Amino acid sequence: MSVDLTEIQKSIQQTFRDFSDKKVRPLAGKIDEERKFPSELFKQAGELGFFGMRYPESAGGSGLDIVSYSLAVIELARGSLSLAAVCSMQSLMGTYFLYRFGDKEIREKYFSEALKGKKIGAICMTEPNAGSDLMAIKAMAKVSADGFILNGQKTWVTSAPVADFFTVLARTDNHDQLSIFFVPKNLRGVMVGKSIEKMGVRGSVTSEVGFVDVHLPKNYLLGEIGEGTKCLREILAEIRIMTAALAIGVATSAYEEAKEYAKTRVQFGKPIGKFQAIQMKFADMAVQLETAKHYVLFAAALSDKNLPRQKEAMIAKLYASECAVNICDEASRALASYGYAVEYNIERYLRDSRFTLIGGGTSEILKINIAKELGL
Ligand SMILES: Cc1cc2nc3c(=O)[nH]c(=O)nc-3n(C[C@H](O)[C@H](O)[C@H](O)COP(=O)(O)OP(=O)(O)OC[C@H]3O[C@@H](n4cnc5c(N)ncnc54)[C@H](O)[C@@H]3O)c2cc1C
Repeated sequence: MSVDLTEIQKSIQQTFRDFSDKKVRPLAGKIDEERKFPSELFKQAGELGFFGMRYPESAGGSGLDIVSYSLAVIELARGSLSLAAVCSMQSLMGTYFLYRFGDKEIREKYFSEALKGKKIGAICMTEPNAGSDLMAIKAMAKVSADGFILNGQKTWVTSAPVADFFTVLARTDNHDQLSIFFVPKNLRGVMVGKSIEKMGVRGSVTSEVGFVDVHLPKNYLLGEIGEGTKCLREILAEIRIMTAALAIGVATSAYEEAKEYAKTRVQFGKPIGKFQAIQMKFADMAVQLETAKHYVLFAAALSDKNLPRQKEAMIAKLYASECAVNICDEASRALASYGYAVEYNIERYLRDSRFTLIGGGTSEILKINIAKELGL
């Protein structure tokens, strides 16, 4: 890749590449098979400073740019998309609103610990009847004398079974718009349901979370009443760039492993990589991977310069995730029966890659919003 990276960006990339190659890749199959949250690697990612990359030094982070962050996400996802998904959730949506609006108690007790990987945060937006359409959310925080009383049902909450605290999007009874609340898991009335069995990213445990008459003090409202969606928009571009980086990571592994296979698998007296039909596949995969990666880093660089990037972040996420699924599929075809065998990684990459089509907005929703940005 010939993107101009600074020395710091190169060194971040190398740090996470080494971590991924030495520590993550050897365990990726096991993480998927056991369907358990990868606690040990999660802690190690914390020790490497991953969770604090996007926060200023004054808040305990390292204040790195989003290009560096994207490079780190790509490397983690090259090792295990399950690990990369839970780590990036923690580093962005799981902690952002605590950093932005948390008071001393929330910042010291939860945010600082989460940056070290010692506490786990999760975000609860989706509900059984509110996925893409967040304005259909029914979770309700009724205003009480000393704070709020939260009731509602959330689903698809990444890391919920192991989380210490939640950031929850809910209505209040005095406003049309949504608000954001901090909810420690140990409060009475917080109930985590059983894990949702998934096709891919199976080490990124996901479950329903119920809230029944959960009493929240006033300081657990993060930001202003009714400002939830506005605050979410602050990090929407970053969420999409991060999801695009996840897609690039898994696609890179599929592409590289299939290429090695094509060099060594001999049929009809020569390596299959010498057949034009297979060469066409790899040329197509390389074109998609290179253009997607360049575009993701371009969108990240726009964000670092604080330039308009909503449209570019959506294009990056849409293109990278669609390319990733296609690359994993083509890689699987190049391995034929071995691409279908659990013994090889490719079938996991193919299953995992489909997650990137959903997180950060589905392809259909992104296309609708890109068209809006185009003035249509
Ligand atoms: C592995 C995983 C982890 C997740 N983690 C979290 C998490 O931590 N926290 C959280 O809150 N949520 C999480 N989610 C949920 C995710 O954000 C939602 O799945 C996503 O928003 C889509 O919602 P939905 O699945 O209900 O699909 P729906 O919104 O029901 O969409 C179904 C289909 O209809 C299409 N569609 C919907 N509306 C329109 C429209 N207006 N025009 C055209 N097409 C449309 C969609 O593109 C899609 O193809 C996770 C999901 C997955 C798979």
